[in-house]
Order: sequence, then C-alpha cells, then structure tokens
Amino acid sequence: MSIEEDSIQPEVVMAMAGASAPPLSPSEYGLLSPPPDLCVACGHSHQLEENHEYLYTDEVDDDLVCHICLQALIRPLDTPCGHTYCQECLTSFLLESDFCPVCRTPLMLQSCRKPSLLVHKLLDKLTVACPFTDFCTDTMARGEVADHIKSR
Ligand SMILES: [Zn+2]
Ligand SMILES: [Zn+2]
Ligand SMILES: [Zn+2]
Ligand SMILES: [Zn+2]
Repeated sequence: MSIEEDSIQPEVVMAMAGASAPPLSPSEYGLLSPPPDLCVACGHSHQLEENHEYLYTDEVDDDLVCHICLQALIRPLDTPCGHTYCQECLTSFLLESDFCPVCRTPLMLQSCRKPSLLVHKLLDKLTVACPFTDFCTDTMARGEVADHIKSR
C-alpha cells in the first residue's frame, strides 16, 4: 500500500511581484469566489466581474472601441440605437442611467444583443503583447492569449 501526495508543480511559478497564490486551471477558475491573482484568460490581475486587460500593440480601429472604457471591446453588446459597448461597461453604466452614453437614446440592457460573429472575429484578431512583458516579448492575436498563457 502506498500513499501518494500531490506534488506542487514548480514549473508554473509566476515571477510576478506578490503572486503567491498557486495557478488555477480554467475549470477551477469559475468555481472559486475570491478572484485569483492572475486571470487565466488575459494574464492580468482583475476582479471576475471586470473586463479582461490586454496590451494592444497597434491602435485599435475606432469601430471596435467601447466608448465607456475607451478600450477595444470585451464581450460586446449592440444597442438598438446602433452603438456597441463592453457588456461589463454597459451593465454598470445602466445601473445609474437609462440611456445610451453616446447618443442618449433611452436604453435598457434587455434590449441589447450580441453583435455578429464578424465583430467577435475582428476583436479576436487584434494583436496584443504577452502580459508577462518582463520575460516574454511575444505578440499574438487576442483570441490566442489564453492558450499562450496556458502553454507557458
Ligand atoms: Zn482577464
Ligand atoms: Zn468597455
Ligand atoms: Zn446610442
Ligand atoms: Zn508570453
């Protein structure tokens, strides 16, 4: 009879300041209530309900920019008045307001829809730098960041 203890895997130690928590796998990620030090999707430290952060290497086309956070859209939502915002940005804006932040048309979250697949594809194609800039100078499509982080 042998007892095998789970060994800690040393190769995934984060070399970032203050990162003391062990890395989480994507399956564990959604189940835990305290946010992890580093998001497994974007590699930055942020709350679960906040937008992912990316380091864009080129200027982002104005049509793909959220006019609340002024960054490239994350989980975009189209309004009936023809504007597009990040889901997180629009949700928190509409907690205190009931109009579109750009054109001020009366607006409810329930009437907003996900944009076409084309918009998601364009967003996934934006070039970003690896979040671990201290020791990785790779650039990649935004849609590949999660895989890049995983494969480190
Ligand atoms: Zn993130
Ligand atoms: Zn936004
Ligand atoms: Zn509008
Ligand atoms: Zn990298």
